[in-house]
Amino acid sequence: MKSLPSLFGGVEAGGTKFNCVIGRSASEITARASFPTTTPEETLANALAFFTREIETQGPIAAIGVACFGPVDLNPHSPRYGYITETPKPDWSNTDVLGAIAGELGVPAAFDTDVNGSALGELTLGAAQGLEDFVYVTIGTGVGAGIFSNRQPIKGSMHPEIGHLLMPHDRERDPFEGACPFHGNCLEGMVAGPSLEKRWGRKAETLPPEHEAWDLQADYLAAMCWNITAAYSPQRIILGGGVMKQAHLFPKIRERFLRVMNGYPCGAAARDPNHYIVPPQLEGHAGEAGAILMAQAVAQEATGTMAV
Ligand code: ADP
Ligand code: ZN
Repeated sequence: MKSLPSLFGGVEAGGTKFNCVIGRSASEITARASFPTTTPEETLANALAFFTREIETQGPIAAIGVACFGPVDLNPHSPRYGYITETPKPDWSNTDVLGAIAGELGVPAAFDTDVNGSALGELTLGAAQGLEDFVYVTIGTGVGAGIFSNRQPIKGSMHPEIGHLLMPHDRERDPFEGACPFHGNCLEGMVAGPSLEKRWGRKAETLPPEHEAWDLQADYLAAMCWNITAAYSPQRIILGGGVMKQAHLFPKIRERFLRVMNGYPCGAAARDPNHYIVPPQLEGHAGEAGAILMAQAVAQEATGTMAV
C-alpha cells in the first residue's frame, strides 16, 4: 500500500494575523510563517505561497486544517462552506478562505472557527486535557468562544457567538455606549481590545494594572463566566486572547464570579474558581496546534487509516 504523506498543514486565520504551519504533529512543527491580515487577495496569496514553497522542499502534506475568524459557514452541504460570510471587517465578507488555500493545493481539508481550533489545541495538549465539557473564550480583537460538549464543538445552525451576549450595563457607573457595530454594548462591544481602546483613548496593553478599566473589565467577564456556566455547565472555562495577557485579571474575575454565583448549586467545578477559570496553556500556539489536529483527523477520515 502506498504510504501517506506524514506532514500536515495548518492555518490559524485571525483577524489581525494569519499563522501558517506545517508539521508532523501538533507538537512537531517543521515550518511556520506569520503575516498580517490585509486584503483577502494578498493574505490568501501569502498563505498559498507558504504551503506551495514548503511542499516543494519538505514534500507533500496529507491534509490541511483551517481555523478561521468569522462569522464562517461550517455547513459542508452549503455552497458557501469554507467562506467567511458577513463580517464587519472591511473586504472580507463572502470570502472563500478554504477554497483559496486547500482548494488550490488539492488536499483533503477541515474547516472550523478560530476558537474551535484553539479549543481543540487546549483539549489535546493544554488546559482542557482529560475534560469532556469546557469552553475556550478569546478576548482579543473580538470575543468568541469554542464550546465543547462530549469533546466535540457545538456548531448549531451557524456557530455560537458568545461575543454578542447582552450584558448587564449600569450606565451610571459606565456611560460608555459600547463599540459593537450591531449591538453597541454587547459583550464584545464592552470588553474586546478595540472597545477598551475606544473607551479609554489608549491601547489596552498600555493601561496600567491599577487603572479603573480592569475592575469594570473583570465585572463584565465574571458575568460572562456566569452566563456560560448557567448555559453550558462546563468543567472549565479557559480565557485567552490578547487582552487576557493582563494576568492580574484572573483573580479579579474569580472573586467576582463567586459573588455573582452567590452560592447557587451549579456543580463542583464552578465552586473552585482557581481551577475553573484559567488561562490557556499553549499561549499563542493553541490555534495552530488545533489546525494541525483538524488536518490529522480529516486525513484519517479520508483514508480510513492512521496517517503515520
Ligand atoms: P486576534 O484577536 O487577532 O487573534 P489578539 O488575541 O492578540 O489577536 O488580540 C488583539 C487585541 O488584544 C488588541 O486589541 C490589543 O490591543 C489587545 N492586547 C494585546 N496585548 C495586550 C495586553 N498585553 N494587554 C491588554 N490588551 C492586549
Ligand atoms: Zn454585538
